[in-house]
Amino acid sequence: MKIHEYQAKEILSRFSIPVPKGRVTDNAQEAGKIAEQIGGTRWVVKAQIHAGGRGKGGGVRTAETPQAVAETAGRILGMNLVTPQTGPRGTVVRKVLVEEALSVKQEFYVGAIVDRSRQSPVLIASSEGGMGIEELAAKCPDRIVREWVDVGLGFQAFQARNMVFQMGIGGNLVRGFSGVFSQLYRLFDTLDCTLVEINPLVVTEGDALLALDAKIDFDSNALYRHKDLKDLADTGEEDPLERQAAEFRLNYIRLDGDVGIMVNGAGLAMATMDLIKQAGAAPANFLDVGGGATTEMVTKGFEIILADRNVRGILINIFGGILRCDVFANGVVEAARRVKIRVPVVVRLDGTNVQEGRRILAESGLDFVVAHSMADATEKVRRMGA
Ligand code: ADP
Ligand code: MG
Repeated sequence: MKIHEYQAKEILSRFSIPVPKGRVTDNAQEAGKIAEQIGGTRWVVKAQIHAGGRGKGGGVRTAETPQAVAETAGRILGMNLVTPQTGPRGTVVRKVLVEEALSVKQEFYVGAIVDRSRQSPVLIASSEGGMGIEELAAKCPDRIVREWVDVGLGFQAFQARNMVFQMGIGGNLVRGFSGVFSQLYRLFDTLDCTLVEINPLVVTEGDALLALDAKIDFDSNALYRHKDLKDLADTGEEDPLERQAAEFRLNYIRLDGDVGIMVNGAGLAMATMDLIKQAGAAPANFLDVGGGATTEMVTKGFEIILADRNVRGILINIFGGILRCDVFANGVVEAARRVKIRVPVVVRLDGTNVQEGRRILAESGLDFVVAHSMADATEKVRRMGA
């Protein structure tokens, strides 16, 4: 589960990692007032969306008077922010964080994630901050330092010092950096995170150490242990179709293509996406209705696919095992009665009760294109595009 920068910064503060003075708002006038309260002569107005790369997309701007802060906030609030991480659709900005602008001497990268290949958490840092970790890994891999954590022992003080020295940090800052690393791991561990990233962590002209940006991702499977963290979720940031799908326990992920798919079983769904690619098209979604799908779930799945305006055709690929073909067919027919089907639908149905399923579809009076095999389905999807 992702949270916003301002929420992540509150959590960093709780773990004694310093952050700039600032406050969040959804109102431009209020943004000006916050600047006055913070004091100083320069402020940063930062779009609060769940994606990073906001600076590059125009979502992080400085202003030099409280009036200018209010105007800048007015421009950012409500804008559709497109960053390298939002995808081409972008995200509408509903809140901004107003912060004191600091005079930055140097930017660093620090983060903690789980290294699956080593089955342990790993702390990562670099003296080259500001850039994304992917870019860092591509441009200067030798400037990245890592320490893997033995979960039984926890992150050790010598490991923190190891990282600090490898980064070429000396003098008064050693203690500050070591402290940040130790607290970062304590936060990561205590709150069951899958990612904590401070990029950039900065040293100011006055040699203070602060987190200028923060990103935290919690392990959703561990949220039951942290009731208070659930309240930090911002459902407005989730794709509305994905949110609806989750309510009906459907495994739906929206993609950028134009052929909607409805499949049972994740493996078959992956194969179906390949099939669509082979046909020269691109999938509009991943949707695994699962083995235990009810008529109601199938109906909802169909409605969700059709609600995506990019969808120009639908491929239904069902192998009836636990989910019987007749149950599935009833769901599709029911959905078709409720929502107007404005695109061609190719159905490939096989397995348990397939005859009954095909009969239900045939007698529904609805216009389905029936495919008899995967190869046939590919061909029909190809023609659908023509
Ligand atoms: P993103 O990673 O989404 O682009 P950041 O919060 O990292 O957003 O902001 C982008 C850049 O803006 C930072 O790398 C930093 O150089 C600058 N910046 C952000 N917050 C402040 C601040 N409070 N004071 C000064 N500079 C800032
Ligand atoms: Mg950043």
